[in-house]
Amino acid sequence: MHIDDAVFLEDLCPKFRLRQWRKSIHRFTGKSCIYCGKPSESIDHVIPRCQGGLSTTENCVPACLSCNGDKSDENALYWYRRQKFYDPRRAMAIRAWLEGDLRLAIRLLQWANPNFKIKNKNYEKDESEYKAA
Ligand SMILES: [Zn+2]
Repeated sequence: MHIDDAVFLEDLCPKFRLRQWRKSIHRFTGKSCIYCGKPSESIDHVIPRCQGGLSTTENCVPACLSCNGDKSDENALYWYRRQKFYDPRRAMAIRAWLEGDLRLAIRLLQWANPNFKIKNKNYEKDESEYKAA
């Protein structure tokens, strides 16, 4: 995806959009943390905002509060490599997510967690709705 095509949250404005967007992010992983697999309670910026990371779907992943807090302002890929629960398949999933290939990311997460269930099979629809906004 080209940077020119990126949808910037700031352009999307109101709170309703923001809430829908956040929900769709959690739905991609079946509401589980992309790093450790626990229930996701927050949205984490893979590249922190202070390092120029944008609030786009590509840079925002579902994360539990513990991972989000622990990672803080670090680059997620570096931080993740040092974690006890590090899983190379998840690392690949994070990379794919960053590149905007959510379908590949979700497949890798399913591989990392056989119990993974997509609660909403319409995720592709959600994605296109988001892009159309
Ligand atoms: Zn976590």
